[in-house]
Amino acid sequence: MNGAHEIGRIDHVGIAVRQIDEALGRWTPWLGTPIRPPELVPSQRVRVAFLQVGESRIELLEPTQPDSPVGRFLDQRGEGMHHLAFSVASVDRALAEVARSGGRLVDTVGRMGAGGHRVGFAHPSAFGGVLVEFVEASA
Ligand code: ZN
Repeated sequence: MNGAHEIGRIDHVGIAVRQIDEALGRWTPWLGTPIRPPELVPSQRVRVAFLQVGESRIELLEPTQPDSPVGRFLDQRGEGMHHLAFSVASVDRALAEVARSGGRLVDTVGRMGAGGHRVGFAHPSAFGGVLVEFVEASA
């Protein structure tokens, strides 16, 4: 763990895509096949697939509904980098730390994310325009 905020490493980089299968065709020649088959994450209204890159991963996010956060992102900006995810010991503590330092949050407490991990998002305004996700290591 690094620094005062218990950030362990970059867990993954999230990339918004219109179709996961098409995106996998682009990425698997470079990074190999996904860690598991694409998975539905109802709390974020996305289908996701993870590709391993050393100790980190790439997360491909396909919206399941056009009016979901990732669906709106695609409408406004098109495909591309969506968020940066840090591994932390406690999502709730990391979110509280952002709030204490005056940063806006998307989630005030952690929720269930991909792979059964607890996750929580800070608002992009808290990190200079970068949407930051905190991911808790499983017990
Ligand atoms: Zn993510």
